[in-house]
Amino acid sequence: MAKATKAIRQALHYPPQYAAYFAANQALFNRVVAFYFDCIQTHEGILSLKNKQALTALEKLTHTTESSPHPVIPLTDLAPDIPAMFRRAAINAALGSARAFFSSLKTWRARKEKHEAKQTKKRKKRPFRERPPVPPRSWNKSVPFYASLWRERHTHGIVLKVWTGSCWSWLKVHLLGRDLPDGYAMGSPQLVRKGDRWWLHTPIEKTFEAPAKSGAQLTTAQTRLCAVDLNLDKHLAVCSVQTVDGTILATSFIGNGTAVSGCRKQLLGRIARNRSQTGIIAENEQDNADLWAKIRHVDEQIAHLVSARIVQFATKHEASILVFEHLGNLRPEKGTYSRRSNTKRAYWMKGRIVRYAKYKAWHAGGIITCRVNARNTSRECHRCHALVIRYNESEPVEGYTPGAALCLCPQCQMRDHADRNASLRIGQRLIERMQEPQKEKPLTAVRRASRVSQETGVGISQDAKRQMGPSIPAARRGDQTNGHGTAQGRKRRMGAPLPDIASQLRVHFE
Ligand SMILES: [Zn+2]
Repeated sequence: MAKATKAIRQALHYPPQYAAYFAANQALFNRVVAFYFDCIQTHEGILSLKNKQALTALEKLTHTTESSPHPVIPLTDLAPDIPAMFRRAAINAALGSARAFFSSLKTWRARKEKHEAKQTKKRKKRPFRERPPVPPRSWNKSVPFYASLWRERHTHGIVLKVWTGSCWSWLKVHLLGRDLPDGYAMGSPQLVRKGDRWWLHTPIEKTFEAPAKSGAQLTTAQTRLCAVDLNLDKHLAVCSVQTVDGTILATSFIGNGTAVSGCRKQLLGRIARNRSQTGIIAENEQDNADLWAKIRHVDEQIAHLVSARIVQFATKHEASILVFEHLGNLRPEKGTYSRRSNTKRAYWMKGRIVRYAKYKAWHAGGIITCRVNARNTSRECHRCHALVIRYNESEPVEGYTPGAALCLCPQCQMRDHADRNASLRIGQRLIERMQEPQKEKPLTAVRRASRVSQETGVGISQDAKRQMGPSIPAARRGDQTNGHGTAQGRKRRMGAPLPDIASQLRVHFE
């Protein structure tokens, strides 16, 4: 069986005085965790036990019961009547931290020993300069609510048992946001502070039949795969579904990259302008906090929308494998601050879309995600694998214009949208890899490309360079073409909504 886990985050609505209660509850929890961490440090042997036995041992050490009225280190000094489940949550948190700390201490000791063993025959002794790990100095853990610390949970509310600073009391809070989805098992909710608001995070878990590995799936001719070509301009993602035997079933163009990058570039430009007017920027202090927050939120939201659409498309056409290409290296760009930063963020967004699509696909019933070598995917014809001519509409049909919309294969006369052709090639790469496993080694290719980029600042593989000649940048597509801001002339105020991208992308599940 395979597992899919995620957390549902819900904002809380509560009377203002509750915030102080939640803070007091968290402070008490962290005191108890620190107390148990100290206990474990003084009785290090506990860590050799399994979690359950360790928990029992720690409770014996600290908890006053009728059978052991005088425990070695009584916990009662911290607060009266700590509920058993609150104590156990704290013990588990402390055990987790202690295990992490002692294992890093162990590896540090091993490294030190190795270093000292090396020093014996050398003429000059070099001291071991690496610092040992230190136990946490302060604790800031969120409080999990084990069963019996919460009750009456429904769509819009929950009742939590909380230490208010003077007593234990049941507090009713209102839950905002989406409900827990069906078909998931719920874990213990957690009270999490974000800024000055409190949120409830609930981990949920789904188990399903584990899908076969990609290699096994690709031996069946009917297996469908959804290949995705990510761009920075025009369409953020172009997806196409094909079967292993080569039947092309559907294509989808997602998102308006030009609008997104235009919006982002405008915000970055405003930051640059503000900074030039301010002159010196204070250290350790975020300047233009609201503008940065807006940029962050826009990127985050678009990545979520695009990845959700990709997965929705794959599910609709019953694809069981999602294929992306390995992202090339970020090529440094010349130009204004806003232009450079814009390219960088657009590049980061690509990675984010892949990351989100991966977990969303897994949650959508175990669709697995693969990556293939990106070399020449947009230069080769998906029908005959010859090199294509890439051109813009109303331009002469010749040469290769990176980022152009159309392509034509001089050998088989295939005419298509260039990004669709690229996405089909990406899918074919995976199939080819399974048929000839020696032919493609994506990891080495990527490593080599990164080495080139360190030397020359251009992330292209050497093979590609040799084939295409130095005059044409061999990295696929003109990823920079959207570096030119499109929204410079337009005036959009801070609070104005994004151009229709968000509404276009909005996904309606069910
Ligand atoms: Zn062709």
